[in-house]
Amino acid sequence: MKRPLIVAANWKMNGSLTLVEQMTNAFNGFVVNDNVAIVICPSFPYLAAFAAAAKNANLSENIHLGAQNVSAQEKGAFTGEVSTTMLKDVSVSYVVVGHSERRNLYNETIMDVALKVKSVLEAGLTPILCIGESEAQRVAEQTNEILASQLQPVIDIIGIKKFVDVVIAYEPVWAIGTGKTASPHVAQTTHQFIRQFLTNIDADVANKVPLLYGGSLNATTSEELFAQTDIDGGLIGGASLKVDEFKLICSTAKGK
Ligand code: PEP
Repeated sequence: MKRPLIVAANWKMNGSLTLVEQMTNAFNGFVVNDNVAIVICPSFPYLAAFAAAAKNANLSENIHLGAQNVSAQEKGAFTGEVSTTMLKDVSVSYVVVGHSERRNLYNETIMDVALKVKSVLEAGLTPILCIGESEAQRVAEQTNEILASQLQPVIDIIGIKKFVDVVIAYEPVWAIGTGKTASPHVAQTTHQFIRQFLTNIDADVANKVPLLYGGSLNATTSEELFAQTDIDGGLIGGASLKVDEFKLICSTAKGK
């Protein structure tokens, strides 16, 4: 089975209407390689603007809109929160869930993350579930244990079969925003562990789940990382804000 290759841009709390315009102009007429999907995740205020600009620019149907977060609640008295219904209203189809910045800076628990994944799936959207270890955990050789502890509660809540509709992003915290990209060997070995962990529960499902790498990925490192057996694309922060570099990264994404 051929898994799709996914290149996702996480703008974090960056960007502007100008960047929305620059990005949609830059991708006007851009030919996305076969079996590749590009996902752009701007901040909430720019989602509708991106959707409108994308329509006008006539972007490839393989370029999708994603959100960086969502509420697990459906609606109601949750000031400041954004629901899956609202995201669907503005043409969002992917949602980043459990980014390490949300876990570490906003105290999102493993259970919060699992419930968000559940509500994203119930809404018919695709969650990009982020998992990853800290530097101290890697040094202490706890990486696999940490990844398993981040995955298992989600499996318990949604059931393994639902993982066919989940994208997992392996993002070592020590590589995010630090310029320390994991080597292709380290990334592949860790992705292989994640795939094996899922295989032990359901081999068919494990074979279908796209596993993205995230952490200081750029146009110099993308091609080799994307070529690894168990790496099915990337989640890109800093380099996704640079229009030309992000386009270059997308060009190196070739469906396997
Ligand atoms: C991210 O925030 O998901 C990320 C991978 O950031 P960066 O590419 O800047 O390390």
